[in-house]
Amino acid sequence: MSKIHHRGVFAARDIKKRERIIEYTGRRLTFAESERSNSEYLFQLNRNTFIDGKNTARYINHSCVPNCFIEIERGHIWIDALRKIKKGEELVYNYSFDMEEAKDYPCACGTNVCPGYIVDETYWPKLRKQMKKKQKK
Ligand SMILES: [Zn+2]
Repeated sequence: MSKIHHRGVFAARDIKKRERIIEYTGRRLTFAESERSNSEYLFQLNRNTFIDGKNTARYINHSCVPNCFIEIERGHIWIDALRKIKKGEELVYNYSFDMEEAKDYPCACGTNVCPGYIVDETYWPKLRKQMKKKQKK
């Protein structure tokens, strides 16, 4: 069981740095279809295409200190190893939401760098500033 969320996905063996681990596969939805969908596992591939995850990849949790990263290649979403991963470690990557999306997704990764929400690392300074302002009020 994951400490972060639901079941999580764990390495079944040692994984090398930059190794390709799994493809995020499922039905392809247009933006309009994605708006009508209530799937928890929509992954945005590009401006107008979402993948409604169906395989194990959809259970990989977000963490602000990831050990995996996303590589999008010719219309396919891959999860690759950011570093060497030991057998039994939970696989995690940064979901990289933008500020607008992040508001609905508080982060439960529990790492000490966590800004409190699931958001791309490039927004961390902005988010921290906003949270400070809120605390002062
Ligand atoms: Zn976090």
